[in-house]
Amino acid sequence: MRIRVAAGGFDLADHRGQFFLDLEEVNRASVDLVLPSWVPGSYHILNYVRGIERLAARRADDHSPLAVERIDKARWRVTTNGASAFRVEYTVHGHDAVTEGVDLTPDHIFLNAALAIPYVDGQEGEPIELSLHVPPGWRIVTELASIGLDPPRYRARNYDELVDSPIDIGRPVVLTIRPHGIPHRIALCGEGGNYEAHRIEEDVGRIVEATIRLMGDSPLSSYTFFLHLSGAWDGGLEHATSCSCVIPRTLFAPEERYRRFLSLLSHEYFHLYNVKRIRPQALDPFDYTRENYTRLLWWMEGRTDYFSDLVLRRAGVYTPSRFLEAEAKFIQQYLDVPGRRSRSLEELSFLSWVDYYQPYEETPNHSVSYYTKGGLVSMCLDLEIRHRTETRASLETVMRAVWNDYGKTGRRVGEGDLLPIAERATGLDLGPFFARYVAGTDEIDFDSFARYAGLSFGPKPKAADDESPEPGYLGIRYENADGLVRVKYVLAETPGRRAGLSAGDEIIAIDGAKVTHSGFDKTLEGFPPGTPVELTVFRRGYLHTLSLTTGKPPPPAYVFAPVDGPNELAQKVYEHWIGTKWEPRPKSEPKGKS
Ligand SMILES: [Zn+2]
Repeated sequence: MRIRVAAGGFDLADHRGQFFLDLEEVNRASVDLVLPSWVPGSYHILNYVRGIERLAARRADDHSPLAVERIDKARWRVTTNGASAFRVEYTVHGHDAVTEGVDLTPDHIFLNAALAIPYVDGQEGEPIELSLHVPPGWRIVTELASIGLDPPRYRARNYDELVDSPIDIGRPVVLTIRPHGIPHRIALCGEGGNYEAHRIEEDVGRIVEATIRLMGDSPLSSYTFFLHLSGAWDGGLEHATSCSCVIPRTLFAPEERYRRFLSLLSHEYFHLYNVKRIRPQALDPFDYTRENYTRLLWWMEGRTDYFSDLVLRRAGVYTPSRFLEAEAKFIQQYLDVPGRRSRSLEELSFLSWVDYYQPYEETPNHSVSYYTKGGLVSMCLDLEIRHRTETRASLETVMRAVWNDYGKTGRRVGEGDLLPIAERATGLDLGPFFARYVAGTDEIDFDSFARYAGLSFGPKPKAADDESPEPGYLGIRYENADGLVRVKYVLAETPGRRAGLSAGDEIIAIDGAKVTHSGFDKTLEGFPPGTPVELTVFRRGYLHTLSLTTGKPPPPAYVFAPVDGPNELAQKVYEHWIGTKWEPRPKSEPKGKS
């Protein structure tokens, strides 16, 4: 079957575009068209089909209409009546500045094909031609192969490639760098942006080079970073030869925000290896109509998170202390979530479809991000391997082995494949480690892993001149509800939970005195740990009073610090891991836990 798609007739003020699907050499009584319910890389069900309007079909020969019946929410059946060629026409409404979205606005057109172009059931492997009729003067940026210019035409080898190739149309600023001789475009789409082009070129170039060095080689002949400058953060979505990031236009300064930007790019770029080419068997082929379950997402996302940090260190974007600070922050995020004890990494991966992407009031009590925990378990495994092999191997060795055996050969990763390959690559028995931290929910003793590298890990000691009071702890996370403190989460085993505080409660007074969202943290400093208090709350619009005694808050920060007199192996592990000479603790720094 020959499949051609044309998009045009854009009414961008109305966020709409016309799409035409021309099918030839049909030779069937009926044809099913299906719009995906999810987009690979974003493991939750989306209902973009709601934006498809007025879908109709006509014969190619005499233009007479063909019957179209909706079979389910995202499947249309066209009865061909013997027509060997016909055209399907429909309108797409899209106004969503998110990484997996369709955004049709007077400023730009951003297309993820999965949400705008249905596939022909049974013909997903056929090539697809796409022609784009765009506003004059606008430029098209995509990794799809160009096959014509007037109108611009592109070719996808199959439906997966079409879906995996986002398209931006507008007036983007396009920077091009050539690390390792491979053209990488950085397309900055959208108005404004407090960036310095030469800095982005330099830093992204370093990240790309460090990634290729770490993995050994690159499968790419070109790559595009799509950076959609927006009002809010949505994050990134990986593709095989590109990534789409929707980020605030002010993310490029100051320094700390800029590092967050580089960290996002490093993560998405690492995915071109891990998940796009090192791909779980359970995700091949994609079933676009429903959830695709795998227990490996922790490896695909958490391991990518850890390696993207390691790349930032190898690229010199992170100094040794910045790298350790970033890891300590991740550990804090992990330790602050009581749900870390409830589900294993495998279960968290499996449940992403209803868990990670759809948090609700109990999520922190029975779940933890498989990005965060997956990254931290990767870090601990890395330290364990470097220590036990006396730095003859590392998690980098494992990653390169997986790349060589799976990514480069096209072999898919089975659910049980990763432990054996990690053991083969390192010569170690890693079964107990996987049983405890991947399949199990054991607490991770970060300090003992840190000691393999001559470091200690623990709460950051208070500076000698820090006289700030310790605030009372309720064990809640809250949000701003028109200036009121609205409880979002009540953490397990905390004073708030024991007192019966619930998500949705609006705290309006403590001991009779009014509290506000903006001053709430400060207010709690007036009720140090161990103070009995009365909370006045609106619960579903009705006034209630609760009594509790404030608790002790978790440490506000954690830190890695060099231990005194580490042995030779620990120094060697540190140098191998961090990529810099071991340095003993400077005399002026406060002493950490040791
Ligand atoms: Zn990711």
